[in-house]
Amino acid sequence: MRHTLFGTKFLAAFATALISIASASAQTFTVPVRNEKGRLTEEKIELTDLTSSVAFEGTHFKILEKDTDRVVRFDGDPNLVRHAATVYYHLEKARATFDDLSQKIPALQALATQIAYPVTIRIEMDLPYSDVSHFVRDGSKQYNNSLTIPASDMMKATDVPAWGNEIWFYASKKEKIPSFTQQLTAVLNQGHFKKAILQQLLYPEIVKIGATLSYGIKPVWSNHLVSLGTSILISEVVIPFLAVLAKPFSATQYIDTAMIPEVVYHEFAHLVFEGQLGLFRPTSIVEGYPNYFAYQVSGLTRLAQKTKKAAKGYLPKNAKSKAKFSFDQDRSLMAATGSFVFSLLYQLQESFGEEGNQIIYGALAYLDRSSEIQLDFERAIIQSIQDNSQKPMVQILKAHEVFQTRGL
Ligand SMILES: [Zn+2]
Repeated sequence: MRHTLFGTKFLAAFATALISIASASAQTFTVPVRNEKGRLTEEKIELTDLTSSVAFEGTHFKILEKDTDRVVRFDGDPNLVRHAATVYYHLEKARATFDDLSQKIPALQALATQIAYPVTIRIEMDLPYSDVSHFVRDGSKQYNNSLTIPASDMMKATDVPAWGNEIWFYASKKEKIPSFTQQLTAVLNQGHFKKAILQQLLYPEIVKIGATLSYGIKPVWSNHLVSLGTSILISEVVIPFLAVLAKPFSATQYIDTAMIPEVVYHEFAHLVFEGQLGLFRPTSIVEGYPNYFAYQVSGLTRLAQKTKKAAKGYLPKNAKSKAKFSFDQDRSLMAATGSFVFSLLYQLQESFGEEGNQIIYGALAYLDRSSEIQLDFERAIIQSIQDNSQKPMVQILKAHEVFQTRGL
């Protein structure tokens, strides 16, 4: 009798275990996706490549809560689960697109091998980044942002554990007074006079830090200053994705970066292009390529438009902008906030036809984090045509035509 009872219990437990394994291999969640009209709609999706049956941990991505080592569990706080599922789903989508592209494009194959999977993803972050201490724990908080951080290097403090590449999605928070980065962007958007003043105040510091990172010179400032400086720079890698509205000071602003698919694609692209473009200098090229990639994953020529309740107070990036080149687009801090390179890449692709991606991604081999649009980028495209095109003369003419229409 007792034996039978035990057997029944055991079988029941076994059956329950089987059911939970079955559901683990096909985890479904409801996440925001873009419909055919480009609107954000809720859809039931299935997460793939999971290696855990209880948490958001897979072959390629591991979703952690804030600055902890805790992997977000499927049965965790609903807000965390929603963010984790959305980010995981759209990262896998970006990765699949990248894998497809890199099978056809040798320039991307080399970059693909540099990614160390699984990549750590942090959601609902609220701490600034530091290349010395990983997280800034001095009481300061940051919101409404997302960033891709490099693996730790010689800047890291000896008592801090090493880290790999990570992508951070910050918690969104309604802000009446824009955060530092937003204020910066806002002021930069307010005309040449203020811009000139601000650049004199800020740009020399950023150039200095950039030079230090580029040439590997050990900085002479205190650790705090270095980490603060780096964190400003890295924040700038992010906000540029969305230009601030014309009236930023009167409006309430926020952005839930994890919930906007194109932001997720953009950050993933920073990760894959890091080997060529780095992460520390938000130039027009460094920001333009991820926007182009986000367009290819999403099919949207306007990125981060129609975000419903995920963001307020930002303008989308526009692939169809026909703005002419100006000095600002290369040299000012505004360079990274514009749509210029994104729209230029889009226009080139349209013009090159089938060879478009071969040529555009092939040009990465001739670009780095110090490349500028004028000369550097133009030359990179011409070089790439010579490397990758079956009809170089035709394509070079087309490239020159596009450059000319855009004031280059
Ligand atoms: Zn960026």
